[in-house]
Amino acid sequence: MIEEEKVLQTYFGYETFRPGQKQTIDKITSKQNTLAVMPTGGGKSLCYQIPGLTLDGTAIIISPLISLMKDQVDALQSLGIAATYINSSLSASEQQTRLKDTEAGRYKFVYVAPERFESSFFVSVIKRIELALIAFDEAHCISQWGHDFRPSYRSIVSNLKRLSNIPVMIGLTATATEEVISDIQSLLNIESEHVVNTGFERENLSFHIVKGKDKPTYIRSFLDEHQNESGIIYAATRKQTDALYDQLTKRGISVAKYHAGLSETERKEAQAAFIHDEKTIMIATNAFGMGIDKSNVRFVIHYAMPMTIESYYQEAGRAGRDGEHSDCILLFSPQDIQLQKFLIEQSLMDDDAKQSEYRKLQAMINYCHTHSCLTSFILDYFNDNPSNQTCGRCSNCLHRQERTDITEEAQMILSCVKRMGERFGVGMTAKVLKGSKDKKINDFQLNKISTYGILSAYTEKELTEWIHFLIAEQLLATEEGKFPTIKLNQNSVDVLKGSRTVWMYTAPIPAGEEADYQ
Ligand code: ADP
Repeated sequence: MIEEEKVLQTYFGYETFRPGQKQTIDKITSKQNTLAVMPTGGGKSLCYQIPGLTLDGTAIIISPLISLMKDQVDALQSLGIAATYINSSLSASEQQTRLKDTEAGRYKFVYVAPERFESSFFVSVIKRIELALIAFDEAHCISQWGHDFRPSYRSIVSNLKRLSNIPVMIGLTATATEEVISDIQSLLNIESEHVVNTGFERENLSFHIVKGKDKPTYIRSFLDEHQNESGIIYAATRKQTDALYDQLTKRGISVAKYHAGLSETERKEAQAAFIHDEKTIMIATNAFGMGIDKSNVRFVIHYAMPMTIESYYQEAGRAGRDGEHSDCILLFSPQDIQLQKFLIEQSLMDDDAKQSEYRKLQAMINYCHTHSCLTSFILDYFNDNPSNQTCGRCSNCLHRQERTDITEEAQMILSCVKRMGERFGVGMTAKVLKGSKDKKINDFQLNKISTYGILSAYTEKELTEWIHFLIAEQLLATEEGKFPTIKLNQNSVDVLKGSRTVWMYTAPIPAGEEADYQ
């Protein structure tokens, strides 16, 4: 058998394996069904491509992302490897020809969509040929617990069991939740010792939160400093995408744009221009990205806060697939929270689903307000933080030195929450602390309580920021919903008793900057 390292070097031109690759490849070549759990950009494709080359027979790759198949096949062909794909984008006669060639053993790799297994002709062809392996790309789609469940993917497994020539199987996914992993294991018959899980962390990504800056000005100076680098800017709406595109184009910056309001041709052209580096910057809504394999994206900027950590990590994770250092920047403004709440309210979800979205949104809001390590925050969210270490490269880790003791202010805020009967939200609490003359404050007689105006030296905006910070650090509890109320918890009691100090790591947003937000 050809040595795996040699294949890596001679075919793919890489010197060393990435974490988990060699281990996965060894298991496959010794015919153990294996599940590889690696983050996006971790290098999952090589895990089946190298055994596909070293084992005899044809490798079948099942992928729900039809748009990616052609790119994968082109890449293999350019390395001189016989590969093809068979899917609905081809004419019936072309599909037939490729199937015949598959039957004749002309290909080392055949990429297909899950639906292909519903064709008895296809199944009869693969029954008759020698199979090297069957790979399930995006394997979380076969699990009903996965965020992208596809029933047709799941049903393949029972079809496959009827084959007498069933080869070694490999599942590949970037979804690391325990339920999904154990579901894939039982479906594909994978023993626990053959799960290769490199964890979720992307060590080449640095996360940053930027607050209190005028967003268009920030973007312009960022792009000035990062000329010739490829990056994606995610805007919250189509309108925002168009506006930002116009602004930057006027300044002579080479940008492409992508959103669902454009025609298919416009979208295809924009995508191609970006992929081929004719345009270095892509401004898009979240409609852009699924199935995009561009390795040299150096930064992903979110122009506004997205709705969930899941979608944020997925979108931000499109940076740095080549393993080089890349930045993920979230430009936060308080209005982002209102926009996301509005989107949840407007959606057609039932009340339970909305409640669950509010819970996810709260985690996202907390991410924007925590002063702890941002990487750890994300890994904790996905229950994947065994070492519990700080990353040393996110904006919070980098600003560690500027810390202020705000225990006294925190005590005032917490006692105000208590005196307000734990029945109000962040906005009202900030107003009471400020001593606002707002009509609602009068209506509820909140101007009569002893903490009314107790922090009047600060702006309502600073006070709002502090309350969000206390929630993010779990020093205050929140009940999620359309109008979330804030309550004390055990940590709050510790702060009130003076047995816990509250540190803030970065200076609060200076008063007056809010006016700059767009
Ligand atoms: P995934 O499917 O896990 O998101 P890919 O398989 O697309 O990731 O790999 C991401 C990028 O990393 C690709 O450009 C690939 O060529 C590159 N890559 C994979 N393995 C290695 C390696 N061992 N050394 C260097 N680059 C690699």
